Amino acid sequence: MIKIIDGKKIAEEIKRELEKDILALAKKGVIPSLAVILVGEDNASLVYVKNKERVAKEIGINYRIIKLGDKISQEELEKVIEKLNQDKNIHGFLVQLPLPAHLDSQNILSKIDPAKDVDCFHPENVGRIFAGNPRFLPCTPAGIIELLKRNKIEIVGKKVVIIGRSNIVGKPLALMLLAENATVTICHSKTKDLKAETLQADILVSAVGKAGLIIADMVKKGATVIDVGMNRDNKNKLTGDVDFEEVSKIAGAITPVPGGVGPMTVVMLMRNVMIAVNN
Ligand code: NAP
Repeated sequence: MIKIIDGKKIAEEIKRELEKDILALAKKGVIPSLAVILVGEDNASLVYVKNKERVAKEIGINYRIIKLGDKISQEELEKVIEKLNQDKNIHGFLVQLPLPAHLDSQNILSKIDPAKDVDCFHPENVGRIFAGNPRFLPCTPAGIIELLKRNKIEIVGKKVVIIGRSNIVGKPLALMLLAENATVTICHSKTKDLKAETLQADILVSAVGKAGLIIADMVKKGATVIDVGMNRDNKNKLTGDVDFEEVSKIAGAITPVPGGVGPMTVVMLMRNVMIAVNN
């Protein structure tokens, strides 16, 4: 029997846990605060930012959005970041990506105070994951590991194959699963024989952004399949990278899209805000 990994339900559980912690903080007179810098009017970014606002407010985190025009210069944006670095009323903040092409994202991210870097993109925080001494955990990979653990899916000694090597998902997830004692393989667009790799996986993670990339004959019987992909079909319906219907007949457990990894990302961000309160 296939197990459907219900990210929506687990995200709700974590929200309730966070609410309790937030209430305990409120009794000490502390309200956790998150700020989000949004540059320009990218449609997908507007949706993500709204979603963060909804969840923050739902669980009692103060939320501030700072909307900036898409012509803002690197120096002006750095000044906004410096102001938030100094602002005692903001515990954590992030710059919604992607930024307009004239801005240097890596440089901008490196200006955030690492203690307030709740997206965990500052080089110091990335380096701390590499060194096995994390301050924050990046939200999507942390959400994936939480999904595995809360569904009692064994990680130790398991062969994990991750498709995708981005700084946001694939690379940090590989390091974090290594720290959980998995044996990890990372695949990408230049991998010679993707199917030969994926067939080895006890846990297969697809973080590519190509609908229909993972079909049933690429999956080992009983494997856990985690679909990070978010793609829109020709009817604008959200789909993952995995052929859910066919792969469900082979896999032991699978995340749906929507309702799998997506809802976890935003609650992991809120968990990082709670960590930032203590930084
Ligand atoms: P990205 O930066 O575009 O990286 C995509 C990765 O896929 C790259 O490493 C690329 O290889 C690899 N790739 C592309 N085509 C491939 C192929 N045919 N075979 C094997 N590998 C291939 O994307 P990302 O930011 O990591 O996001 C990936 C997907 O996850 C997107 O759909 C995104 O929307 C989604 N996402 C979801 C969440 C969530 O919360 N649910 C969060 C973040 C991202 P190269 O490195 O060789 O180019």
